[in-house]
Amino acid sequence: MDRAANDFDVVIAGGGMAGATLALALVQGGLKVAVVDASAPEILATPAFDGRTSAVAFANFRQWRALGVGETLSARAQPITDILITDGPAPGASRGAPFPAFLHFDVEEVAAQTGGEPLGWVLENRHIRAALNAAVAQSGVTPLIGVLDAVSPEPAGVIVTLKDGRTLRATVVVGADGRASRVRSAAGIGVQGWAYGQAGVVATLALERPHGGVAHQHFLPGGPLAILPLVGDASAEHRASLVWTEHSDRAKALIDASPQAFEAHLGRRFGEMLGRPRLIGPRLAYPLRLQVADRMTGARTALIGDAAHVIHPIAGQGLNLGLKDVGALAQVLIDAARIGEDIGSEIVLDRYARWRRFDGAGLAMATDLLTRLFSNDAPPLRLARDLGLAGVNRMPALRRLFMQEAGAGLGDLPQLLLGERP
Ligand SMILES: Cc1cc2nc3c(=O)[nH]c(=O)nc-3n(C[C@H](O)[C@H](O)[C@H](O)COP(=O)(O)OP(=O)(O)OC[C@H]3O[C@@H](n4cnc5c(N)ncnc54)[C@H](O)[C@@H]3O)c2cc1C
Repeated sequence: MDRAANDFDVVIAGGGMAGATLALALVQGGLKVAVVDASAPEILATPAFDGRTSAVAFANFRQWRALGVGETLSARAQPITDILITDGPAPGASRGAPFPAFLHFDVEEVAAQTGGEPLGWVLENRHIRAALNAAVAQSGVTPLIGVLDAVSPEPAGVIVTLKDGRTLRATVVVGADGRASRVRSAAGIGVQGWAYGQAGVVATLALERPHGGVAHQHFLPGGPLAILPLVGDASAEHRASLVWTEHSDRAKALIDASPQAFEAHLGRRFGEMLGRPRLIGPRLAYPLRLQVADRMTGARTALIGDAAHVIHPIAGQGLNLGLKDVGALAQVLIDAARIGEDIGSEIVLDRYARWRRFDGAGLAMATDLLTRLFSNDAPPLRLARDLGLAGVNRMPALRRLFMQEAGAGLGDLPQLLLGERP
């Protein structure tokens, strides 16, 4: 087909972390790319945009290095040197009793698995977006501000219409437009899933003591409480990001509580392992759900990131899954373009769908199971998970498998996740 007949090879709807990473990968692979986002890049990089952080697996960080943003991001990235998983005190346990059953990955064991890399890196989303958008602006990608409204596939291309009436013609459109994806609904792709009745309360904390690069996951009856280490900045020397999962009504109470009451409650729930925590910045709550698209592709359409799958943040894997989609889709499209195939054809898009389908659906099911197992204090479930955690902890082979999975280093990896450009 005649690629030059279209304005762009690929129009990406959504310039979030998945969409912007894909734009960089595709333009570096020689494709002509536009990325359309509803918000301007300056807005996407403000602290209040989502107030969130991401634990990014080492293989995905390798992808960013391969795309040339590793150096900028490294300055903002806190390596995770250790992961400590604890179960909350058993009902009726005395105050101050040690947390039972734990799973622990330490730095040397991790390095042996990852070739010297940490298991992952923690970054604030605003810094990731700022670095990606700065790179996109200099890359030859056409960045557009606008809301994608309609998509009309045709035999040789696809017409993308924005709310303000502008139209773009591309060979393929990618939906990187998040959980309420317009590209997905325009392609007639349905979703399966359910709400958890829980919300993730996120906030940035100043700690009294150094975190030492340790990521904490502490299980409570309402859901997990995660404290992820952050690099220090002008606001505080020892910083961490909190993701506190609670039933929706209690999450609202956590948002409405005074900062002092919130800090005291957090201290009581988590213990004072890191000293007294202090809030720095806003508290925001995200309703949590599981949502998996029926298909990853449609007519001249591919979905990546949250547009394709939204999972519980219990294992910090949502963005990681989306970045694996990016590596796979970039490789499929770049390889196809090089040999002159129609990159929007069903045969090409199907290669991507087959590569990614199982990982997305499999992780969605696994996180769903973990959520049910850990958001419950019924004695049989508690016993099952404590035995499970202790079992994994005692079995080095199983622990290594967990580490590889958490580091996104398992399976048929796209070249970018191995640190190579396609
Ligand atoms: C509390 C919480 C904690 C999390 N922690 C982690 C973690 O530690 N590690 C991890 O891997 N994942 C984590 N996740 C998941 C992660 O945040 C998401 O998976 C990730 O942000 C999805 O990125 P995305 O680029 O696919 O979508 P989004 O970030 O939703 O980006 C979509 C973009 O599309 C734009 N857009 C939407 N509609 C349109 C339209 N019609 N036209 C144009 N533009 C449009 C939006 O403006 C936005 O910029 C967490 C999630 C939550 C809720």
